[in-house]
Amino acid sequence: RRPDAAAHDALVALDRAHLVHPVAPWRLHEERGPAVLSSGRGVWLTDDRGHELLDAFAGLWCVNVGYGQESVVQAAAQQMRRLPYATGYFHFSSEPAIRLAAKLVEITPASLTRAYLTLGGSDSVDAAVRFIVQYYNNTGRPQKKHFISLQRGYHGSSSTGAGLTALPVFHRGFDLPLPTQHYIESPYAYRHAQGNDPQALIASSVAALRAKVAELGADRVAAFFCEPIQGSGGVIVPPKGWLKAMADAARELDILFVVDEVITGFGRTGPMFACDAEGVEPDLMTLAKGLTAGYVPLGATMLSEKVYAGIADGAPAGTAIGHGATYSAHPVGAAVALEVLRLYEEGGILAHGEQVAPRFAQGLEALRAHPLVGDARHRGLLGALELVSDKASKRGFDASLGLADRIFNIGYRNGLVFRSFGDHILGFAPALTITEPELDQVFLRLRKTLDEVL
Ligand code: PLP
Repeated sequence: RRPDAAAHDALVALDRAHLVHPVAPWRLHEERGPAVLSSGRGVWLTDDRGHELLDAFAGLWCVNVGYGQESVVQAAAQQMRRLPYATGYFHFSSEPAIRLAAKLVEITPASLTRAYLTLGGSDSVDAAVRFIVQYYNNTGRPQKKHFISLQRGYHGSSSTGAGLTALPVFHRGFDLPLPTQHYIESPYAYRHAQGNDPQALIASSVAALRAKVAELGADRVAAFFCEPIQGSGGVIVPPKGWLKAMADAARELDILFVVDEVITGFGRTGPMFACDAEGVEPDLMTLAKGLTAGYVPLGATMLSEKVYAGIADGAPAGTAIGHGATYSAHPVGAAVALEVLRLYEEGGILAHGEQVAPRFAQGLEALRAHPLVGDARHRGLLGALELVSDKASKRGFDASLGLADRIFNIGYRNGLVFRSFGDHILGFAPALTITEPELDQVFLRLRKTLDEVL
């Protein structure tokens, strides 16, 4: 089909006039208009002008199984035909929701025994916060209301979650953070005084958590939230052992340890969950993205038996725990998730991702020598390049230069999609189905893009 220029112009005009975009500069977007994506297959996208793009970011680090997985489409269609909707409210349930909850309990760390199915990552974080508040209220410690998270962390953009997020753009104009939200240093090796010594960096993070809890009072702190690798903060990969050390410290400090695996879950960093690599058993875990590989919206908040029982047994007998949404435990989302999980395991997609990850690492490492690249970091198929104007001083770029926008546009022209954070970090998270020749294409196009920026 020949792309129709008039149809494209008409669509763009409608977008500018009517569609409010998430996380976009609204007025600037109206001026520029959107890139309209129209189809996808494997790791390849086509826009409505027929331009072909290699997607090195799996949509928004979610399409882990690639585009066009027919069995996932069939799972959704069959469930829609049989029963498109069933509430999870009250005592209703549906087979896909039941099977998915059991499957999630089976594959997540052993501490997690209950699954609450949500609408996506922000909803998972929001539910986690509300469950934690209930847990302490119902177990006789209502003063434990303060939450600690990491600087540069991202935990979605619900009214509360956006305050656990520590990126200024999500606070500006929204009266955040709340007085109960606090941050500690990020394990950002490239820009940390102890960055060259992994054990010192871990010790510094543990000390920062202890100090913050001491400052607030352990009897007032509810939980510590963290991503095993900070995604939207710039793909900050902490040293191996960091997550376990933070989990141990939280336990010792008598605060709940919440791992946000919305990005790192479902094979993104190699194993099914980043927690698995270090034997971490959190009190709560938040999930989304790779759970349905982006085919439909669905997330999960996983709870330990201690937290579940604290809420359930502490509530007045017979009263409802007043949290839920019409689309909680959506049967179509659950049916899709079950098929996506089958593809990761029986379909060999997780194993394939682990197999090609060294090629991804090599591609990023080779770019360290590029004059614009200050740092390359990666684990599994999650990675970033940090660009600097001066390698010795690690000086970044003045935001007024609009470098991120320029790089994105040059990349797009070169048929490559990735993500820019701030003005100088480029993020990569291809589908776990990407082949080695396709990875070589990613790095050819990326090098060409960086050379054109110079
Ligand atoms: N938590 C983390 C670590 C995320 O990266 C994201 C989204 O990028 C979220 C939560 C929010 O998820 P969602 O965008 O599905 O609401």
